[in-house]
Amino acid sequence: MGFFGKMRRWSIALFRVFGIQLEVHATFALLLAYVGYACWLEAGLRGMLWGFGFVGLVFVCVVLHELGHSLTAMHYGIRVPRILLLPIGGMAQFDSIPRQPGREFAIAIAGPAVNFLLIAVLLPVFGWPHYPEALGIPERLSEIPATLIATNLAMGVFNLLPAFPMDGGRMLRALLATKRDYLEATKWAARSGQVIAALGGAVGLATGQYSLAVLFGFIIYGAEMEYQFTRRSDLLAGLTVGDVARRDYLALPPEAPVVAAWALLRQAVPQDILLLDHGRVVGIVTRDRLAAAVRHRRDDDSLALHAETHFAELQAETTLADASTGSLRSLQTLFPVYASGQLVGVLDALHLEETVRLIRRLPREA
Ligand code: ZN
Repeated sequence: MGFFGKMRRWSIALFRVFGIQLEVHATFALLLAYVGYACWLEAGLRGMLWGFGFVGLVFVCVVLHELGHSLTAMHYGIRVPRILLLPIGGMAQFDSIPRQPGREFAIAIAGPAVNFLLIAVLLPVFGWPHYPEALGIPERLSEIPATLIATNLAMGVFNLLPAFPMDGGRMLRALLATKRDYLEATKWAARSGQVIAALGGAVGLATGQYSLAVLFGFIIYGAEMEYQFTRRSDLLAGLTVGDVARRDYLALPPEAPVVAAWALLRQAVPQDILLLDHGRVVGIVTRDRLAAAVRHRRDDDSLALHAETHFAELQAETTLADASTGSLRSLQTLFPVYASGQLVGVLDALHLEETVRLIRRLPREA
């Protein structure tokens, strides 16, 4: 299960815009409660109402920012199934990220462009906000536009930081990718982002702004994820599940006793065992579940009692790229592989990268 998969478990679907499902993560309620409480302490009921209203306004700006990315992506024919709103910001999910630098640049810049466009609309009417009052709880409703301008300015500028996973990081990668290989461009953009974020984090710690330090910590982590994701999809490109399927696997009938599996495992490299019924995998006995069964002295139980029965299967012709953004992102480690309805082997997710390196005659990962 990928990042989006994990996050979606706790997400609430709101409504659709331009065919894109808007979802809000349950932890957003925590943010609402925190801001509401903090503002209550400062200005009572008026403060709390303002706190809720302010979160709502930021929420709208974030959605508009994400729509900037999404509509530009859709213009290039990329499907955008959903926009997920987390307390740390919004995230538009794209079906694919274009490897054409021009397009990636356009999609990335479109988000902050929306924030600056909003400022451009508000500014002539309301003028520059007075700091630091614009950041506090307003006394009058007429102060709200100033807060909006300040919010969009912060959002736009912050996202332009040339650091993955910020939009500026993607813009930097796109620029680098016009001169060098995509993976290398990603690496440079990720590393420079990490250096900037480390500096920002250090400033945050030194000045006691710990939430800023945490935010920069997230950026360092996000940059690494982005680089690893690109590295992996480069490695897997052009191969199918069938290419990496292993022909040797351990299998037993579902009615075989636990002790038989235990005996089998002691003669082989430890691995999960398939339960086969008429050539079809009906369950997978993981090492953990087998060990638990043995520990509880259930030697004579049939293996079917201790098997995982909810597991994904793969088709040999599926590309590894597709599998790796789908089934392979789950916690399952061994996948039965079928071709024309016949079991042809297993895909061992734990050793996938090593197997691919062997096939590609690449050295082991340093
Ligand atoms: Zn953005």
